[in-house]
Amino acid sequence: MNTSFHPTPRTLMGPGPSDVHPRVLGAMGKATIGHLDPEFQGLMEDIKDLMRYTFRTSNALTLPLSAPGSAAMEASFANLLEPGDKAVVCINGVFGMRMAENVRRMGGELVTVEDEWGTQVDPEKLRSALVANPDAKVVGFVHAETSTGVCSDVKTLCALAKEHGCLTIVDSVTGLAGIELEVDHWQADVTYSGTQKCLSAPPGISLITFSQAAADRVKARNTPVQSWFLDLSLLMAYWDGEGGGRTYHHTAPVNAMYGLHEALLMIKEQGLEESWTKHRTMHNTLVENLSGLGLEFVVDAAYRLPQLNLVKVPEGVDEAAVRQQLLKEFNLEIGAGLGAFAGKVWRVGLMGYSARQENVQLCTSALRACLPGL
Ligand SMILES: *Cc1c(COP(=O)(O)O)cnc(C)c1O
Repeated sequence: MNTSFHPTPRTLMGPGPSDVHPRVLGAMGKATIGHLDPEFQGLMEDIKDLMRYTFRTSNALTLPLSAPGSAAMEASFANLLEPGDKAVVCINGVFGMRMAENVRRMGGELVTVEDEWGTQVDPEKLRSALVANPDAKVVGFVHAETSTGVCSDVKTLCALAKEHGCLTIVDSVTGLAGIELEVDHWQADVTYSGTQKCLSAPPGISLITFSQAAADRVKARNTPVQSWFLDLSLLMAYWDGEGGGRTYHHTAPVNAMYGLHEALLMIKEQGLEESWTKHRTMHNTLVENLSGLGLEFVVDAAYRLPQLNLVKVPEGVDEAAVRQQLLKEFNLEIGAGLGAFAGKVWRVGLMGYSARQENVQLCTSALRACLPGL
């Protein structure tokens, strides 16, 4: 029988989506208005303003995209690269691999710098690659590698790229609002994020910001951006429209934008640094609790992401069965390992509204119940 869908409320402690704050869900349930309605245009301006606050940037070209984080990754490469352009991509997990795939598909010339899963992008390896490839134009890397729980040094990597005349593409889908990110101070050129990780909004929207140098590169292109939908110059006429008024490009997902706005507003109210501190504090509690159960963390504490924790599956434990039991008996979702870590780790997310004391305690007691040997 076809009936309305009533999802069982879950506690989301995987790699995303994270728990959505009730205020965000409430905002999304408000009346839909036209996407060219003056009131909605006012909201668009406020979203851009709040995005600049959260990214710590004054970049004029800062806007949300009506599609998830993966679309922002694609938009970054599609707009900066022209066919034949050389791009260096640093790979230390799944999302670096996806960046590389984007370069291939855009017809760019790909150079990869590879680091072991579970470790940071090595700046020395990037330096060698840049020395060996003086014609490289773009460097891409992941700030917070969600597949491995590793944080890379954005400041150092951006400085290196700049030294060698390259623009940077920084994936901070999991980083934004969870750990320190200083777009202007660190001189990142294109930085993007998404709604469903540390912003506590539902999946589906991404956030992207371009430095002046990156915006100039897009303007100076000889070939049109291969993607019509993700062409920044067309999107700007819709999101900016200063003076001339906005022109129709696509219909923005109006209610999803209400949600993004509320999520960003909550970060501003709380204070961005307070948001970073919250993630760190909840991480410390999780470490204390799970270490008390005899569980081990995979990533070195020096570059571990507080918001995404790789926990070793104890010897002889069926990791998938534990995840199923957590979901069935505790309505708790945690993530599986990916790639090199498949079957060996769980990924426990503490992102945004999921980074709460009650979640940490639930996760601890539920794991204790599912692992009777501990
Ligand atoms: C989640 C994620 C993405 C993709 O975002 P979607 O919203 O799933 O498309 C990209 N990069 C990183 C590092 C992520 O964690």
